[in-house]
Amino acid sequence: MVTKQYPVIWLQGAGCTGCSVSLLNAVSPRIQNLLLDELVPGQQLSLIFHATIMAGQGEPVIRVLKDAQQNRKGGYILVVEGAIPTAEGGRYGSVGEMDGQEITIKQSVAELGRNALLTIAVGTCAAFGGIPAAKPNPTLCKGVKDLFNEERIDTPVVNLPGCPLHPEWFTGTISVILFSGADALQLDDLARPTLFYGKLVHENCPRRADFDKGKFAQKLGDPGCLYQLGCKGHYANADCPLRQWNNGLNWCVKAGSPCLACVEPEFPDNTSPLYEKLTFEDIK
Ligand code: SF4
Ligand code: SF4
Repeated sequence: MVTKQYPVIWLQGAGCTGCSVSLLNAVSPRIQNLLLDELVPGQQLSLIFHATIMAGQGEPVIRVLKDAQQNRKGGYILVVEGAIPTAEGGRYGSVGEMDGQEITIKQSVAELGRNALLTIAVGTCAAFGGIPAAKPNPTLCKGVKDLFNEERIDTPVVNLPGCPLHPEWFTGTISVILFSGADALQLDDLARPTLFYGKLVHENCPRRADFDKGKFAQKLGDPGCLYQLGCKGHYANADCPLRQWNNGLNWCVKAGSPCLACVEPEFPDNTSPLYEKLTFEDIK
């Protein structure tokens, strides 16, 4: 049987590379399974560009991007990590150079996004702007969907926010796409798969009984619900309490930290001060 390959181009804009690090730490499947094995029989990802982990550099790797754009139209998946700086024509974020000309991340996301089968925005920065787009945002950072709307690009976008994203949110999304096609993904009105972002953190939190009884922690390290210490679990849609992080070992509230609603478009400006109580209306 011939294996069908899905080339993946992974571009990095304004961010900390934390989403790549999170994915590289995936346990099941491991990153090598994701990249080298047939995750679904007969179907395989083929990572052709990722600045952090690829060995190539210079113009030859920029040619890989140009080749995909021209010769693989509608046949590759574009993954974007990090926000897109758009001020002054995008000059605050660069992918590289070609023939002495700077190629900006803004230009690359727009050109490659226009011709992609699908675009996946990984992490809150790529999905909604995140920390790079926080006030005063001098580089006018934006999320992928905002850029696509401005540039009238209608390629479908799947948002996988999180600061960073959970590796299984990526591997799970890719698995659904390979098994059943992108149309099988049920998305919420922020283009997030409901499989991972369908329920409030607060609904499944083990400290929920304390919240209902009015037993609130007064300082970090106390037992009880963390609402008074700034927990935004009542606003955050993610399966962190059920899935947990680091291969099911721990997660924010279990580790004693309030949930900061890092998966929401209001993070971080409207979810701040991070360690002060904010109601739903304060954040919205
Ligand atoms: S700790 Fe946060 S998520 Fe858990 S019950 Fe309290 S407010 Fe809700
Ligand atoms: S618990 Fe809240 S802050 Fe922590 S990863 Fe999940 S959504 Fe983000």
